[in-house]
Amino acid sequence: MSGTRYPLEVNPLLPARLARLDELANDLRYSWDRPTRDLFAQLHNKLWRAVGHSPKALLKRIDQHLLDEAAENSEFLGSMARVLSAYDSYQVRPSREIGPRMAEGDLIAYFCAEFGFHESLPIYSGGLGILAGDHCKTASDMHLPFVGVGLLYRQGYFQQTIDGEGRQAATYHDSDFDELPVAPAVLDSGEALHIQVELPGRMVEVKVWQVRVGVVKLYLLDTDLEQNTPHDRDIAHRLYGGDRTTRIEQEIILGIGGVRALKVLGLHPTVWHINEGHAAFLVLERIRQLVRQGLDFDSAFEAAASNMVFTTHTPVPAGHDHFAEDMIRHYFESCANEIGCSIESLLALGRVQGQQEFNMTTLALRSSSYHNAVSRIHGEVSSRICKDIWPQIDPDDNPMDYVTNGIHVPSFLSELWRDIFDRAPAPGGWSQNLTDAGYWQGVHTIPDHQFWSTRQSIKAQMLHLVRARISEQHARNHGSQAHLDRLLKLADPDNPNVLTIGFARRFATYKRATLLFKNLDWLRQIVSDPERPVVFIFAGKAHPADEPGQAMIRRIAEVAAMPEFEAHILMVEGYDLHLSRRLVAGVDVWLNNPLYPLEASGTSGMKAAINGVINLSVLDGWWGEGYQGGDGANGWAIKPVSSSYDENRRDYEEARTFYELLQDKVSPLYYDRSPMGYSPGWVAMAKRSIATIAPHFNSMRMVSEYVTKFYQPAARRWSHCRESDYACARRLSEWKARIGAAWSGVTLRWAGENIQRRIRFGESIHIEVALQLNKLKPDDVRVELLLSRPNAVVRPQHCFKLARQGRNADGEDIYGLELTPDICGKIEYRIRVYPHHELLPHPFEMGMMVWL
Ligand SMILES: *Cc1c(COP(=O)(O)O)cnc(C)c1O
Repeated sequence: MSGTRYPLEVNPLLPARLARLDELANDLRYSWDRPTRDLFAQLHNKLWRAVGHSPKALLKRIDQHLLDEAAENSEFLGSMARVLSAYDSYQVRPSREIGPRMAEGDLIAYFCAEFGFHESLPIYSGGLGILAGDHCKTASDMHLPFVGVGLLYRQGYFQQTIDGEGRQAATYHDSDFDELPVAPAVLDSGEALHIQVELPGRMVEVKVWQVRVGVVKLYLLDTDLEQNTPHDRDIAHRLYGGDRTTRIEQEIILGIGGVRALKVLGLHPTVWHINEGHAAFLVLERIRQLVRQGLDFDSAFEAAASNMVFTTHTPVPAGHDHFAEDMIRHYFESCANEIGCSIESLLALGRVQGQQEFNMTTLALRSSSYHNAVSRIHGEVSSRICKDIWPQIDPDDNPMDYVTNGIHVPSFLSELWRDIFDRAPAPGGWSQNLTDAGYWQGVHTIPDHQFWSTRQSIKAQMLHLVRARISEQHARNHGSQAHLDRLLKLADPDNPNVLTIGFARRFATYKRATLLFKNLDWLRQIVSDPERPVVFIFAGKAHPADEPGQAMIRRIAEVAAMPEFEAHILMVEGYDLHLSRRLVAGVDVWLNNPLYPLEASGTSGMKAAINGVINLSVLDGWWGEGYQGGDGANGWAIKPVSSSYDENRRDYEEARTFYELLQDKVSPLYYDRSPMGYSPGWVAMAKRSIATIAPHFNSMRMVSEYVTKFYQPAARRWSHCRESDYACARRLSEWKARIGAAWSGVTLRWAGENIQRRIRFGESIHIEVALQLNKLKPDDVRVELLLSRPNAVVRPQHCFKLARQGRNADGEDIYGLELTPDICGKIEYRIRVYPHHELLPHPFEMGMMVWL
């Protein structure tokens, strides 16, 4: 055959009666509304799967006659009417408020490098993106004034295939933006919105796309435009692709371009939230805009920081995004000029003590007023990693806060549970009672046999998908049918009675996907018990540059190919949101065994738990808070051994705990079947898993916490800050300069008579200290005494303010307190002084403190 092939696409016309399908296809609400997705699937099921569940792609490719038929089909029209009626009522703000509110005129801008909503918009790589997607979905559910900002990657993250030897191949496909649920953002004039961002020696043209996520909007920036050079067109080509130059240029487009786009759209956020450090350059653009309004750099910096919220997700310093200082010089020299700050001061904003690098986390921390980690354990770890930002503050007391992650329940709850919860636990509906722990106790009223059979059905759905994917994979790798049959012997949707354990996530080395292979003999004994077989299903991508991550995939393939593990270990390629939704809901046990404390939060286990899947995890990240032991256990925990052991020893010990749990607890409980064919103990634990985890580890609780802890105070600070031409920002920056200049000369000494060591209950001791303020004013500082039992945490009521009593002949200020302890025994007290200003977002934000 020869001749030129001229591509041509013929798009069908939507019949008038189906016109609103277009609206549904352009709103990501379909990503969490199953009936909407079913409606599209109903049009042409096979095509629906072939286009990767993309409603827009389906509507572009489906045959005209199918649309015409649907327009005459009363059943289809009935479903569509129901979907549309739910859609329309969702758009209206509910009369009963869901969660805390923002004030009139407030707007939260949320920046992230990736967003994971649905497989039909492939601009995510893993947990960070999916969390960002869940945050937006929840903001919509709560009708918050909210706008998201990200990048539109032409090729997104890679597609993964795995060959017969377990070698991962990464391929990239260009997305056709016409088939994504995005549309060009337009101005009131009807003109498509473009902005420009200057990079050294050139201007880059940026197109702004708009995505509807229910009632909130997300704006995505795109540089793949004819006006740009080939280099610049490629900037936003691949998520986490390219080299350092690509990365910094992506982050400049996102941070600087994002602020500009919002401005041109006439949006004026009162709160700015950067989710991970990638977007931190946005502060420089905000400062630039404030400097144009007449502020000096320092005041502009204070103003910009006043309403910035920063969330860190990385528990290792090396994981923080950083750039060589020369690179920052190259890209920001002219910006520094414009904003009236020397390039050296700009570099200092991102410098970590003792390192010659520009760290995005450091920039984000310094330029935000609210900072948080994503679980309690991660909060403790982050306080330590970031302690240099507040050098004189004990890490336990520094302003690093945490908000534990949560997941968007409507996105990850199986439709089979949805139907049951819609009727069962209690009236009002699960979606209206997401954070109500009492409401979720209602799962205990679901009859055990119904609970078990629902779990079986969800598992069967999952097994269908796993079989299909593995068959495809196997055929591509030229495997035989007989081999395939042997592989899938235990993954049988018609007999979903084999204990099935899931492990799916990014294949980063710290997640230790291959930990369970530490002792293959032991594992073999457990899984091949003929009475109690066990199957493991693995899925996940390793970053193309992560060789050790890819080696783990090869190791899984190697073990899976051993005759004694055949059928017991399955590796499914192409982990994405679709596979994730099915796996987290369909397996029996969700396994997570990261190297403590490297799992900042983890969220896949939460998705599993709400579906009645039981977690077996290292007590790290969210599981450190979610796990409940004892009689009312809601899962199993691998307690991490001391991190002072070397990694091999830790792997060995923790793998042993895993085998013991699997052999002595998990498998016996699962196979402890009643005459009715199910395990009552298992059902009880699965119900506790739902009841204890669903109400807390969901994104409604998470976003509500962001609102009350950060968004509301940040918006208030901003409005205060803006009054009288940013008078507060100017005042605060002057004050900080004064404190900064004087602080190293501030000293504190004991000034009382002798120090008493023993008193009787009810007696008091006189405390007197002399403070050399080095020209600071008494109002600039706070002097405090902390009382506690030795080495114990100080309770708030045991923190006493010392009162100023005058000045001595040496110019020292005298502070005193009559201390009457209300506790007996051996106790201790300490005295400290630190800078104090009512405008500081946290008492220790200055990072300065002198102890006696
Ligand atoms: C939830 C999810 C993740 C995050 O998984 P963790 O186990 O928390 O790392 C990653 N990828 C996909 C597709 C997910 O749905």
